[in-house]
Amino acid sequence: MKFTQQSSQFSLQIPPFMWHKFRQAMLQTRNTNEEVIGFLFCQRHQISKRQIRYFPETWVVPASDCYEHQSASGLVLKQEFHLYLLEKYLSEGLDIVHVHTHAGNQAPNFSGIDDRYEAEYARFLTSSFRKPPRLISGVFDESLQNHKFRIWNRKGNAVETVNFYPSWFELKSQPNIQAHTDLMFARQKIFGEDFQQQLSELTVTLIGCGGIGAIFAEQLGRLGVKKWLLIDPDRLETVNLNRMPGAIWRMTEQRWHKVEYVKQLIKNIYQTGSCVKAIPAAVENESVQKEIGASDLIVVATDNHRSRQIAQELAIEYMRPLVCLGTHIDVKPDGVPRMYCRVTVPPVGGDWCLMCGNIINLQRAALESAPMEIESLVGRAGYLEGINDPAVFWLNSICASTGVGVIQGMVSGCLNVEEGLDWIYQFPQCEWHHTNTDYLTTPDCYFCGAD
Ligand SMILES: [Zn+2]
Ligand SMILES: [Zn+2]
Repeated sequence: MKFTQQSSQFSLQIPPFMWHKFRQAMLQTRNTNEEVIGFLFCQRHQISKRQIRYFPETWVVPASDCYEHQSASGLVLKQEFHLYLLEKYLSEGLDIVHVHTHAGNQAPNFSGIDDRYEAEYARFLTSSFRKPPRLISGVFDESLQNHKFRIWNRKGNAVETVNFYPSWFELKSQPNIQAHTDLMFARQKIFGEDFQQQLSELTVTLIGCGGIGAIFAEQLGRLGVKKWLLIDPDRLETVNLNRMPGAIWRMTEQRWHKVEYVKQLIKNIYQTGSCVKAIPAAVENESVQKEIGASDLIVVATDNHRSRQIAQELAIEYMRPLVCLGTHIDVKPDGVPRMYCRVTVPPVGGDWCLMCGNIINLQRAALESAPMEIESLVGRAGYLEGINDPAVFWLNSICASTGVGVIQGMVSGCLNVEEGLDWIYQFPQCEWHHTNTDYLTTPDCYFCGAD
């Protein structure tokens, strides 16, 4: 076995709650001093030419009766159980991750036995499947803290290093001196240095820099996010001044692009260290889509269904978490207004999406992508609400703030969004409704169903 010159950058990301359950299962299966083994079955995604990300769809930790023998010196799975695993998961085209533990609490190393066994296993996979899965292997210390990961080539004679992140995001938690001496975040110290450091490394795509997007960027920027990709084709207009923080009439006179204005909001916060790419184009534009896929998180805060649909499709394709923000105001015939805001996070990699959860309307999305003439025709026939939807700063703020809170929960790991989340706030009742996401699950969705 040889270490080849690292030709690609591999990462394995496990959402925090999945990792927690996997780790608990591993710890519980073990009796003192025994080694344990677990499996993750992953989707693979090529982010760029050299960057490849693995994201688990599911995991299995065999119970102790699945072993032929289990001891401190090694372990062997029963063959029929092993075949069952392979048939069930690998036939779906997923790649396999082997995780096992070594005794002791020091940083583990792969042993000579591991090398031989895994090399053989990689060759076995190559010879047994028409579309052979890749083998990734990981070794942990007995408390599952320290780790090493690697990926085997198909011949089973070389490995490359894999970076492992038990997080939604590929963030190194190396303490950075600048982050924790930064006076700016003194009042947020309570959340920990890792939290602040992770925010400063996060790259957020914001699709829609209007009334909700701008407040969202202002708030998440002040929480500590410095790297942004901003996408919106529109320019500032006088009608925006009722709800855009820090927007001034002169900007509307000079017809600033909304992305330039939001970029200014971020630049106003950070004297150095921020990185903002402002793209005054629609998300339909294919050249921006690859960049979106390379970011850590996608946030969509547009006023139309079509761009939300595209954002969702990109989130599925690139296996990125998506946060969807929106508000709605109408006035009942008796003159009483009803106001809503909605924060939706569809689960990454399955179960439901904005389309099958009916959170956006595909018919409207199709109309919005139709040529202008058709759109105005449909508009006159009363099928389409105009872009002059009512909007107020304070309601947009509730929506944007809650979205920022959800992201804080995702980064710190205190909020479980792995089954997805859909919250709706209603005013004047002043109530938050939590949609039961079980009802949103749709196995055969054209968009998010298994391919
Ligand atoms: Zn080992
Ligand atoms: Zn779906």
